[in-house]
Amino acid sequence: MGPGPSDVYPQVLEAMSRPTIGHLDPAFVSFMDELNELLRYALQTENTVTLPISAPGSAGMECCLVNLLEPGDRCVVAINGVFGGRMAEIVRRCEAHPVVVEFEWGKPVDPNKVEEVLKANPDAVALAFVHAETSTGVRSDVSSLCRLASEHDCLSIVDAVTSLGGIELCMDDWGVDAIYSGTQKCLSAPPGLSPVSFNATAMAKLNARSAPPQSWFLDMNLLTGYWGPGAKRAYHHTAPINTLYALHEALQILKQEGLENAWKRHADTHQQLREGLEAMGLEFYVEPADRLPQLNSVIVPPGIDEAGVRSFLLEQFNLEIGAGLGPLAGKIWRIGLMGASCTQRHVSLCLQGLSTALAETP
Ligand SMILES: *Cc1c(COP(=O)(O)O)cnc(C)c1O
Repeated sequence: MGPGPSDVYPQVLEAMSRPTIGHLDPAFVSFMDELNELLRYALQTENTVTLPISAPGSAGMECCLVNLLEPGDRCVVAINGVFGGRMAEIVRRCEAHPVVVEFEWGKPVDPNKVEEVLKANPDAVALAFVHAETSTGVRSDVSSLCRLASEHDCLSIVDAVTSLGGIELCMDDWGVDAIYSGTQKCLSAPPGLSPVSFNATAMAKLNARSAPPQSWFLDMNLLTGYWGPGAKRAYHHTAPINTLYALHEALQILKQEGLENAWKRHADTHQQLREGLEAMGLEFYVEPADRLPQLNSVIVPPGIDEAGVRSFLLEQFNLEIGAGLGPLAGKIWRIGLMGASCTQRHVSLCLQGLSTALAETP
């Protein structure tokens, strides 16, 4: 019950143990098409360029930025936690210029402030931000931010690593141009893959580049040569076959449950956790309207040994919860309710463990 990886479904682990076939085997090629169709369902998009990058969420972040920014481009980056900060760092390494808009940790990205910055930077080509900030447990308003980006002729680049499968996310309806996610948060597949999707506007920006992206491995045009669309598939790198089996199985589980049902399960289970924690006198760090159900930031009460409680839970209850990061280190715990780890059983175990820990640790 930390900030990821979440528990992996047993059926997903079982899928991983299937025989490893060739990455250009005709059976594997049709499997890839099916996988990308499942990804389109999960992301709620019709984009033909929708595929999993063979590396974790951070690689999806790098893929979006390295393909869509050219040296010298200006990109507005909203930062309200760890992951927005990383985006700004990658923008710099793409030799582009991040225009940083900062927000207090624990608060969402404020569209009014972003609008001011977009107005002040008419040459900006992109707006990048995080939907679900895992470092604080805060959700931002993707739809409003993407509308602003489009009004200012900017591409929207959205981090959906923790949001996918846990809260409402509708890539096309919300006007997202480029998105990346991860497998080890609410999809409950193992870490190591990053679903990415580009719409036609994003592909047009990529294809108008004066030079190919600095990264050969993450070059979207080379990746689509392998992943399609199109029947002809060229070797780019050896795909992580068994991890892809796992993602396919996890996406099928999500589709069987239904996206809306999965979002509701996260909301309902969060409500149970919230009631239990509040009954114990614990308080949330984030305002109710901005909270992520899948990542609960809880204030460490005064006089409590924050790390001691986490060790106690791990040793006595075999249960992991997360620590605070950056300015929130030592001040909060981060309790994940992601995917397969989002059940009543997890909530009961966590509440029982925490109340024992608070009574027994100094
Ligand atoms: C976990 C996470 C990432 C990075 O994913 P990795 O799989 O650890 O590389 C990026 N953004 C957010 C919001 C995350 O929660």
